[in-house]
Amino acid sequence: MTSEKCAHVTCVCTGICLLLLAAQGNLDDTVQTGGGAVQEEAPRVALTFDDGPDASCTPRLLDGLKERQIPATFFIQGKWIAGQEDLILRMHREGHLIGNHTFDHVRLTAVSEQEALMQVVKTSNDIYEITGEYPAYIRPPFGEWRESLNCHVEMIPVLWSLDSRDWVLQDADQITSRVLESVEDGDIILMHDIFDASVDAALAIADALTAEGYDFVTVDALIIE
Ligand SMILES: [Zn+2]
Repeated sequence: MTSEKCAHVTCVCTGICLLLLAAQGNLDDTVQTGGGAVQEEAPRVALTFDDGPDASCTPRLLDGLKERQIPATFFIQGKWIAGQEDLILRMHREGHLIGNHTFDHVRLTAVSEQEALMQVVKTSNDIYEITGEYPAYIRPPFGEWRESLNCHVEMIPVLWSLDSRDWVLQDADQITSRVLESVEDGDIILMHDIFDASVDAALAIADALTAEGYDFVTVDALIIE
């Protein structure tokens, strides 16, 4: 399926986010508990799903997210859009963020500049045709963004900070344990909405982290340009 290597997020800056929030809290001093102590912001994570949409797995995931009122981010492949327009429109209407994952899941650094640009632009155009919005975020397959594309498209590459390795593990319990053991405030969690085990794990992770007081956000909330 995929062989996406582990990579670290380059444009997430949770530390600065937290510093800014803390400074804001001190200035207006409005968020207080009964005891007068400043209430801490809830930890936040973003669930992100690559490689779909999948006609079977993605609707089940959307059902589970809707039930829990949790937003997620979907980095979709252009080649799967045709025939799945209603599913993509549903993602958009239900508050999820839709990002670009190229048309054919190509390694953008391994093809010509023209091909790389086509892979990105065609996918963005096809998403725009459905949602009326051009995606602002791209997750380059294999975590490899081609810097020269910055001259042609205004998109923010988004990698991840926690790889669920769902595509290798293929077992909901193992995927869930792996994520819950290492998750931290500000994590961008990499998953794939093309496996049943990933859907089961994502919903179990959502329930467990909700019980721990986490808030779920789309990736744009965790990124500072
Ligand atoms: Zn992928």
